[in-house]
Amino acid sequence: MPKILIVGGGYAGFYTAWKLEKHLRKGEAEIVVVDPLPYMTYLPFLPEVAAGSIEPRHSVVSLRRHLKRTRVIAAKVTGIDHANKTAMIAPNGGEAYDFDYDQIVVTAGSVSRTFPIPGIADNAIGLKSIEEAVAVRDRLIANFEQAASLPKDSELRKRLLTVVVVGGGFAGIETFGELRSAASALLAKFPEISFDETQFHLIEAMGRIMPEVSLETSKWVLKDLAKRGAYVHLDTQVADATDGVVKTNTGEEYPSDLIIWTAGVMANPQVVGGSDLPREPRGRITTQADLRVIDADGNVLEGAWAAGDVAAVPDKTGGLPDGTCVPNAQHAVRQAKRLAKNLAAVLRGEATVDYFHKNLGAVAGLGIGTGVFQSGKFALKGFLAWGAHRGYHGLAMPTWERKWRVLWGWWHNFFLGRDQVQLQTTQEPRAFFEAYASRPKPKVEEAPAAEAPKADSTAKVEAEAK
Ligand SMILES: Cc1cc2nc3c(=O)[nH]c(=O)nc-3n(C[C@H](O)[C@H](O)[C@H](O)COP(=O)(O)OP(=O)(O)OC[C@H]3O[C@@H](n4cnc5c(N)ncnc54)[C@H](O)[C@@H]3O)c2cc1C
Repeated sequence: MPKILIVGGGYAGFYTAWKLEKHLRKGEAEIVVVDPLPYMTYLPFLPEVAAGSIEPRHSVVSLRRHLKRTRVIAAKVTGIDHANKTAMIAPNGGEAYDFDYDQIVVTAGSVSRTFPIPGIADNAIGLKSIEEAVAVRDRLIANFEQAASLPKDSELRKRLLTVVVVGGGFAGIETFGELRSAASALLAKFPEISFDETQFHLIEAMGRIMPEVSLETSKWVLKDLAKRGAYVHLDTQVADATDGVVKTNTGEEYPSDLIIWTAGVMANPQVVGGSDLPREPRGRITTQADLRVIDADGNVLEGAWAAGDVAAVPDKTGGLPDGTCVPNAQHAVRQAKRLAKNLAAVLRGEATVDYFHKNLGAVAGLGIGTGVFQSGKFALKGFLAWGAHRGYHGLAMPTWERKWRVLWGWWHNFFLGRDQVQLQTTQEPRAFFEAYASRPKPKVEEAPAAEAPKADSTAKVEAEAK
């Protein structure tokens, strides 16, 4: 049986395996997914997870539960030697080993792209994983709890109540809007803190936000956020973030205990860098429109495929200035579906079909009850767009089991309000037990037997005594 190795079980990897299970007959090929995480993360929900509107577990999809005919390996792929069709697999906590394959599908996604700005690596957090979203939610609530017990003129209190987001793309603006909404809701439970004390700043290097929507819509978002006490600083860059004090090139200073970096992504450097697969100047693996990997001369590398954020896939409808697809979920899912069909076709000696997807538009939630939707020149703003956001993503979540959990969660929140409990102490789950746990008494060391003085030293002591 040919072996299909899928590197990364995120959006593109999960959908590729899921659809291959559907398209391939029993015994036609063995499907293997390698990912260090046991779940696919629905990244568009991360801002709502950070804001406490969605339970973290509901926004991920278990690979083992939903991939019934796929072998799932909890490991990282650290190298790909496609010339010999071998991948290096490093299991979590185990020895790395070589894995032979017939077909490889690289869907290892992207990571936050940062710049060498002092203090960012040490003090900021990204928003590319469920773990980060949970940490942001816990930190926001814990900071309120701490600030409420400090005097009004305390510098620490001011710092705890200041949130800085860097990057005004879709993910950044959604995160900013959702956190502002969450903080405003928290105020009802913290009468010690006034609205004016909560400071929200977003730093954006360009002259506008959200390039996916029209300029007019993006200006509406700026106004909506400002009305809610969240300020976007355009044409501004972070110059320094040492000790959590965000300094901009325009001379502003925002000491903050919660700095979120959402200023762009880059193709997974570990997987791409550790492979012999061809890549373009931005570091993405080059493919042709049917998602097969190609070299710089356009020659197909037999048995190699790529999709999602890690791949530079030609966009036959226009796309980025270089004619490739933008890194988003809309493309990742559809590329994966096309890839699964094409891979099955190649295994059967049939022809492949090119990937073609016309952008459906963009929809963003900016906090409970407000959002934006843009499709061509048509735009919705405010409550209707927020409804469209929830409707679209609620249904786009893969599997009914997961859709159901998310939809019920929203339904419960509608009546009960969002859950405002932080569980930061789960970061150190053994601390409490360890503090009171009995330990064996330390052994009493036996005193070493006194050594008999040597002959010459005895003579010396006697001589000194005389
Ligand atoms: C906050 C946020 C909001 C977003 N909102 C939207 C939206 O509203 N609409 C939209 O279209 N797009 C949105 N996106 C973008 C979209 O989520 C991504 O484009 C999409 O997830 C890309 O899918 P992928 O499969 O390429 O990567 P991912 O979904 O990131 O999956 C990559 C997988 O590879 C695994 N992996 C990493 N390293 C290794 C390794 N060494 N070996 C094996 N596996 C590895 C990872 O664990 C992960 O499971 C958003 C992104 C973010 C961060």
